[in-house]
Amino acid sequence: MPALDDSIQFIKGIGPKKAKLFEKLHIRTLRDALETYPRDYEDRTRITRIADIAGEDKYAIRAVVGTEPKISRIRKGLTLAKCTIFDETGSLSVTYFNSPYAAALLRVGQEYLFYGRVQGWGRGRTLVSPQAERIALDDAHPGRIVPVYPLTAGLTQRDMARVTDAALAAVPGDWPDPLPEVLRVKYRLLDAADALAAIHRPQTADEVAGARRRMAFEELFLLCCGLQQLKERRRADPGIVFTQNGLESFYNALPFAPTNAQRRAISEIAVDCTSGRPMNRLLQGDVGSGKTIVAAALCALAAQNGWQAAFMAPTEILAAQHAKTLAPLLDRLGVSYTLLTGSMGAAQKRAALAAIESGAAQVVIGTHALIQQGVAFDRLGAVVADEQHRFGVAQRAALSAKGEAPHVLVMSATPIPRTLALIMYGDLDVSILDEIPPGRSPVGTYAVGENMRPRITAFIDKQIGEGGQVYVVCPLIEEGEVGLKSAEQHAKALQQALPHRHVAMLHGRMKNADKDAVMRDFAAGRYDILVATTVIEVGVDVPNASLMVVEDADRFGLSQLHQLRGRVGRGARQSYCIFFGADKGQAARERLQILCRTNDGFEVARADLALRGPGDFFGQRQHGLPALHVADLAADLALMRDARTEAEAILASDPALAGYPELCARVHRMFEAREDEAFN
Ligand code: ADP
Ligand code: MG
Repeated sequence: MPALDDSIQFIKGIGPKKAKLFEKLHIRTLRDALETYPRDYEDRTRITRIADIAGEDKYAIRAVVGTEPKISRIRKGLTLAKCTIFDETGSLSVTYFNSPYAAALLRVGQEYLFYGRVQGWGRGRTLVSPQAERIALDDAHPGRIVPVYPLTAGLTQRDMARVTDAALAAVPGDWPDPLPEVLRVKYRLLDAADALAAIHRPQTADEVAGARRRMAFEELFLLCCGLQQLKERRRADPGIVFTQNGLESFYNALPFAPTNAQRRAISEIAVDCTSGRPMNRLLQGDVGSGKTIVAAALCALAAQNGWQAAFMAPTEILAAQHAKTLAPLLDRLGVSYTLLTGSMGAAQKRAALAAIESGAAQVVIGTHALIQQGVAFDRLGAVVADEQHRFGVAQRAALSAKGEAPHVLVMSATPIPRTLALIMYGDLDVSILDEIPPGRSPVGTYAVGENMRPRITAFIDKQIGEGGQVYVVCPLIEEGEVGLKSAEQHAKALQQALPHRHVAMLHGRMKNADKDAVMRDFAAGRYDILVATTVIEVGVDVPNASLMVVEDADRFGLSQLHQLRGRVGRGARQSYCIFFGADKGQAARERLQILCRTNDGFEVARADLALRGPGDFFGQRQHGLPALHVADLAADLALMRDARTEAEAILASDPALAGYPELCARVHRMFEAREDEAFN
């Protein structure tokens, strides 16, 4: 009997050539195949009568072939086979493109179960290249649930079926289950072996659902166990203890009253820093919720206790901006500080480095280079990383490895639902700013189509005439995409339309120094319009900007659009945001309208997550979590809650999972890949 760790190339019908192709899918062994789940299922048990076909979609249709397939050559290299099928409610035409062989297998008068896509309407309606299975005369319940696996060129679903069949056959009878039995009983979950069989070869749609639920729970549970263990391991490190608590003087130095949410977050930080364990906290808050002063509180606290704080921003522009904001506050508190960026002059830089090394600078504001290039601190006690998604697990780890385990606060403006945050940042504690400072008027948001172009151009001109400035954002364009506006083209077009205005351009391929120069000049009011790609998405603060125009807005995620919108509405001026793309279909319009309805980032995130799923939602900014194959971070919220509760419970009683060898092994395996990524 083959073992699960055997190569798949010895399976009948596979061989070395196909095995090579399977490698592209990361399938080398039977075990790999077992762990490659169908990406979808075709439910051929739900049979639609021809009269009930509602529109263009995939259908399973039980019908008799009525006419001999007629083959015609449309043009060179393209043949078309056509026939008619019927059931007791009507008839339907069937078309095969370039596969006369498939059509030739159909027999007039024989009943088949067809499965395929119906296209077109009315007389033009046709079932396109369906799969057809003969139905025996006495078969009352034909059809099955057919798994659809991810494929690569050269492989077919049949090949996948072969390999997974072999893998399922190799599963031993005593297949170990990482989920403790009490949990399986409590949550009515299938056991591991049954779930595997059901996910690959389900008999009914219910079975698929049951298997998915079990596997999603398992994934989330393993994930939570792993993250929780990471967290506990870090907690075991001794932390720097801040004893002084001068929060009153900090609050008094603020130019405004903190929101309740800011107060709460600051207290949570203060508690962490006096606990004797290193803080690892995520501060999450919508654009404009006022995260900066919460970070400032941590810096002030560190300084008061005789430690240094490093405040890191993802870009030089933002570092300079933070320094400018914090300066008056730190001055009032009598805390010394310095800025350290790559573009500083040599003499200035030398002075800054000296102040950092001697401890004369209590707060250091800069980019990630601050910690990465081994800047020597005298007594680094606290680190703030702004915009968490640019500060991954790897940097976090590098930092903790720096010996003294400073308190770490990472800040993110990606507002995700709390349950999800608790999972995604399972190795961090989470504080949430769920309140926007008073007195802001929401950004007036409009989704428009191309027909509004002249009016919007005039509106841009008007805003500038009233003393405002304008951002225009274009999507990043990949080669070969037509019909979209590139920043370059668009900047030119705008300059032509508004020759009396100053248009600047900013995109990712520009050198850092050039980007900074453009940003600086825009902030200083030397440009009226900044045409940019999404490089300006994060944190940029030019209060005088009052209008954000996003081209091809349907190409962006809702949360990303919300971030972009956050670039305006920062000053006293009533601000506006215009999204082009509302004329690109109903779905696009409805999506954009969500943003017109609400300025609340959490609400936007919820809608975004529901619409796009977590994969796209998090996009390129991977969060460094192990890949999830079954669990759906958008849809499985309830399951997530349970998995997390149970993970906490089991680790509370058995921190090393010594009593659960299979669970322990699987958690390790899940996190192996991640640690490789994180530490290379
Ligand atoms: P973000 O969370 O997006 O980083 P910032 O920290 O940049 O937000 O704050 C946005 C603006 O709101 C800043 O101009 C800041 O001075 C102001 N602000 C922050 N907290 C308050 C508050 N409690 N009351 C009034 N204004 C505040
Ligand atoms: Mg910010």
